[in-house]
Amino acid sequence: MNYVIFDLEWNQPMSASETVKEPLYLSGEIIEIGAVKLDEQFRLRDELKLYIKPQYYTRMNDRVVALTGIKNQHLAAKGVPFPEAFDRFLDWCGEDFAFMTWSMSDIPMLADNMLLHGIDASELPVCYDIQRIFGREIMRSEVRYSLDYALEILQEKGDTAHDALHDARNTAKVCDRLDLNEYLEEYGSKVFAEAPRSRVYESCGELLADAELREFTCPWCGETVTCEDFLQSGNGTYMAYGLCAEEDEFLLQISAVKHQPGEYRAKRLLFEMSDDLWDIYMDKKEAAERQ
Ligand SMILES: [Zn+2]
Repeated sequence: MNYVIFDLEWNQPMSASETVKEPLYLSGEIIEIGAVKLDEQFRLRDELKLYIKPQYYTRMNDRVVALTGIKNQHLAAKGVPFPEAFDRFLDWCGEDFAFMTWSMSDIPMLADNMLLHGIDASELPVCYDIQRIFGREIMRSEVRYSLDYALEILQEKGDTAHDALHDARNTAKVCDRLDLNEYLEEYGSKVFAEAPRSRVYESCGELLADAELREFTCPWCGETVTCEDFLQSGNGTYMAYGLCAEEDEFLLQISAVKHQPGEYRAKRLLFEMSDDLWDIYMDKKEAAERQ
């Protein structure tokens, strides 16, 4: 079993009107994958850095250039198309692997870019959010800390931020200071993304009232599961609890994506329930009941 710590950099559209909306609303197109591979004893085994030539957002956004230093000429010379880069990445990950990322923003971006290129994302590996583990286990807090801050607290000297490989290495440095053997069981969750949904809603309220969005097929037993009501989880995202007839438990996450006023679409990710996701869900549920 390998643990693959990865980080992505992505380009953004120049303006809202240039944003790709089909087959899905594309908030970013991946231009770099940086990854480090740990073995099952969490020893550093290998590194990988891939540049990707964007197909949709072909002109680099100035803000992204300022942040990452990645320029058009660079991608033209070194980038490969996403499907090729993704194949190389998967080959490198090995037969049996789990993903580790800092925060949960890279997983949905990876899923969106896979779906954009028609790559099946219905079954991603077990994912661990190292930011969450650091916050809970080291800081005893629900706060989401930056990677820089975590390195500072741990008195580790990190590589310069906003390079995908540097950020993956820096996350590995934090991992090295965590008792992963002790923590991982509580935090691991398999992730399932679905094909883009085409239905357009006039409002977020109309979207949330669509009963179909609370239904999914259990990836383990194939039963149709109807979730409980959605709870607000901030930033246009909602979560709902689902229990299948075979007692498999899930957390369904839904994002109400606003394409333009009066035009909303739903994106959904299904997470296998973990002890940590259960805690997150119960916190939201209790907060909703208090209101
Ligand atoms: Zn099931």
